[in-house]
Amino acid sequence: MTHELPPSASAAPAGPDAVFQDYLAQGEFRIQQCGSCARHLFYPRVLCPHCGGTQLSWRQASGKGTVYACSVVMGKPGTDSDYAVVLVDLEEGARMMSHVIGCDQHAVKIGMPLRARIMERDGKPLVVFEPANGGMP
Ligand SMILES: [Zn+2]
Repeated sequence: MTHELPPSASAAPAGPDAVFQDYLAQGEFRIQQCGSCARHLFYPRVLCPHCGGTQLSWRQASGKGTVYACSVVMGKPGTDSDYAVVLVDLEEGARMMSHVIGCDQHAVKIGMPLRARIMERDGKPLVVFEPANGGMP
């Protein structure tokens, strides 16, 4: 009879990024809020970049945001695989990098309202954004 370690025994301890991924896997988009200065943070961290606070809690994000900056990355010629890389200002005040789906990538403009969606890519949950108005101009 062999003795095998449970799979979790070899896993790295869950850092804030892993916690973020775990929430996504449950269909929840959560970002951290600092208990000292009340600002919201993204990317997941162990320290508040604003005040150095360590009392970070996970809050459900509204999913609302606007485009702060965008650039379209060209896919392979002849395919419809161009995609927009955007910096999104979340309603909560944090800023995150993501992709926009569900509209013409060249129509993505600074200030455009977006809403978050969780999708799966390569077996991993991922936050992407789509136009809040359904892609209508
Ligand atoms: Zn803080």
